[in-house]
Amino acid sequence: MANKIPRVPVREQNPAVRATNFEEVCLGYNLEEATLEASRCLNCKNPRCMAACPVGIKIPQFIEALKVGDVAAAADIIAQDSSLPSICGRVCPQESQCEGSCILGIKGESVAIGKLERYVGDWRLSNPKEAEVAASNGKKVAVVGSGPAGLACASDLAKMGYSVTVFEALHEVGGVLVYGIPEFRLPKKGVVAKEIESVRRLGVKFETDVIVGRTVTIDSLMDEEGFDAVFVGSGAGLPRFMGIEGENLNGVLSANEFLTRANLMRAYDEQYDTPIYVGQRVVVVGGGNVAMDAVRTAKRLGAEATIVYRRSEAELPARVEEVHHAKEEGIEFRMLTNPTRVLGNEQGWVTGLNCVEMELGEPDASGRRSPIEKAGSDFTVACDVVIMALGTSPNPLIASTTDNLETNRRGCIVADENGATSRPGVFAGGDTVTGAATVILAMGAGRKAAKAIDEYLR
Ligand SMILES: Cc1cc2nc3c(=O)[nH]c(=O)nc-3n(C[C@H](O)[C@H](O)[C@H](O)COP(=O)(O)OP(=O)(O)OC[C@H]3O[C@@H](n4cnc5c(N)ncnc54)[C@H](O)[C@@H]3O)c2cc1C
Repeated sequence: MANKIPRVPVREQNPAVRATNFEEVCLGYNLEEATLEASRCLNCKNPRCMAACPVGIKIPQFIEALKVGDVAAAADIIAQDSSLPSICGRVCPQESQCEGSCILGIKGESVAIGKLERYVGDWRLSNPKEAEVAASNGKKVAVVGSGPAGLACASDLAKMGYSVTVFEALHEVGGVLVYGIPEFRLPKKGVVAKEIESVRRLGVKFETDVIVGRTVTIDSLMDEEGFDAVFVGSGAGLPRFMGIEGENLNGVLSANEFLTRANLMRAYDEQYDTPIYVGQRVVVVGGGNVAMDAVRTAKRLGAEATIVYRRSEAELPARVEEVHHAKEEGIEFRMLTNPTRVLGNEQGWVTGLNCVEMELGEPDASGRRSPIEKAGSDFTVACDVVIMALGTSPNPLIASTTDNLETNRRGCIVADENGATSRPGVFAGGDTVTGAATVILAMGAGRKAAKAIDEYLR
């Protein structure tokens, strides 16, 4: 029986070797492995995996095509719902979405849907298809931000015949995919740039180094430049800090700044002279994917690297796979530990982090048990750099330069389930609406907004 076959393991770089380089950790399946893994799928009548995918990829159908080795057909099926399968196959939290709903996972191991999506996505990148550019419908839409929300919205609108221009504040297109998630999880040239190229081939135009709210405004785009609608997918790039003493010392960074220097400014590449300092020992505060990316990057840049997290391992919000990889690479985890003060020397540089031990109390509003300080448990972790990975919020710039764009008290743009905002013709989606979330949720929001924009303009 198909479900008697064990889940096909995926090849990975040796942990001791990969902890010293920035090449991709996971090497993916080959055709033989992918078809064998695909053969485990039961092709359920009621595919719970598909219902759990925020963009509704026809998972059983693409896996059926893969079972018989028809990778081209599998790629066409995925392309109906996702323009970024190589990216999503690598970074989606499949364990809580498609794979988390797979019936095989109830008593055993779910089908490796993410690794199969990645295999098919990569195959398409090596075997590009002539893009079908839709006939123009004469209408123009501006997209603010080139992260997954903006890219998904732009692709769908271009396929419907809209003339789409994406305005991006940075000099490179891709949002967190290029400035946040490191090369060893998501290769930039081999994967991100190629999937973005497939969006460009649909006719989408990109204008980089344009800050909406400064270089242009939503008003000027609509009133002077003739855009009929605007989609705002400007993400949540504003880092949070703890507000503890010593946070302004040299050597305290937000994870966003650290990762931007490492990724976008290519500190990982010896050919670039990027200013970045890791010293001997780096402490990263936080337990999400961003914290894992920062700590593993610090390790690869030559530091001893430690995670400090105030709850226990069971509450870590990062993907299980990322925590597992970090441990294999020799990252130290100090759980139930909360920083209270950053220590520095007379020259103003970090020398250590004062912490207290915590224990878990009753569950809070989020359902997670609240950490409570243990009296008299102070201790110091010696370090040269402290990286804060405590979450982010939307940059208030766009909303502050435009009338009638309602935001909530967390600074997120208020939009309905289809992305419509308080301002007619302006739609929004992704992290700027939800706060920091995931790639696939941002893509799902971009797709819904594209549909709503089409209905609004027709
Ligand atoms: C380090 C890190 C690791 C992560 N790991 C994962 C993971 O493993 N899996 C996962 O699913 N999710 C992960 N996430 C979260 C995920 O990347 C985000 O949820 C997703 O990228 C949000 O997409 P978005 O399009 O809404 O915003 P973004 O990707 O943030 O893109 C927004 C874009 O808008 C641009 N912009 C902002 N303001 C303006 C302006 N005024 N004018 C013009 N352009 C502007 C920004 O420069 C940016 O390029 C991670 C996030 C980080 C930071």
